[in-house]
Amino acid sequence: MAGRKATVDLLNEYKIRPRKSLGQNFLIDDNINRFIVKTLQLQKKDLVLEIGAGLGELVNLMKDEAGLILALEIDRGLNVLLKERFEAEKTVRVLDKDILKCNLDDLIKKYNFKQLIVVGNLPYYISSPIIFQLIKYRQVIKKTIIMLQKEVAERLVAKVGGKDYGILSCFLNYYGEQKIIKKVKNSCFFPRPKVDSAIIELSFYKKPLIEVENEDFFKKIVKTAFSQRRKTITNTLSLLNKPSLSKPELSSMLEDMKINPAHRPERLSAAEFARIANRLYSACL
Ligand code: SAM
Repeated sequence: MAGRKATVDLLNEYKIRPRKSLGQNFLIDDNINRFIVKTLQLQKKDLVLEIGAGLGELVNLMKDEAGLILALEIDRGLNVLLKERFEAEKTVRVLDKDILKCNLDDLIKKYNFKQLIVVGNLPYYISSPIIFQLIKYRQVIKKTIIMLQKEVAERLVAKVGGKDYGILSCFLNYYGEQKIIKKVKNSCFFPRPKVDSAIIELSFYKKPLIEVENEDFFKKIVKTAFSQRRKTITNTLSLLNKPSLSKPELSSMLEDMKINPAHRPERLSAAEFARIANRLYSACL
């Protein structure tokens, strides 16, 4: 299907008006959908979770290739449409769920799989929380191909030292690797969004390169450091109340770790943040 006219006709048939509040910009270019499915390299043994299945265009292309597709969709009207469209398909389950409230471990167990593949043209208003949700369940995620606003995708793949490097890229670098695999023009969507998009592939390491003693503490350190990106890490980390260290103490600790205390957060790699977190965490005990 796809194409602007077919999309509008289907929406009209079900009396659905695209909701901006749910990030509903439907992909109307079938070549992009085919590209995504080709990149996924699905096998009959795979469980696929599609975040925000919309009108079901991707589901339609994947249904004969995967073992089972869980088409997650929060919108009631789209749920009705998806259920009718795929009612006869043994490999498709339409789930009326919010991705942010989904326990992916439970979902996998329920359908008797060990891992899942995640795909989706993400609702952009919650793309960052969705990324955090994927990081949380990274142990059970075999592959992730998602589409995001181009600017967000560029932030996710940003390397240390660049202006786009921040909390999300730092976390993702810690947990795995990520790359942009295709840029997509805004004209490929209905309704047409203001900005272009990009498809990225995320892969998570089995184990992070440097393990942290306490993950929440690591996240706190990264968030604190980036809370004031113009300040040096010595200045921002001195804002922590646990452990409460003076600037000279922090500075000598960082020097001792061969990390420049005058650097701003964007100059620090995820591994360096991990080392700082471990050192400060042991100071809290
Ligand atoms: N996959 C379709 C496509 O490419 O045409 C739709 C993509 S559209 C950008 C995002 C979809 O996510 C919408 O269908 C929207 O209703 C759905 N959505 C929004 N928030 C959601 C949430 N919290 N959980 C699950 N789906 C959500």
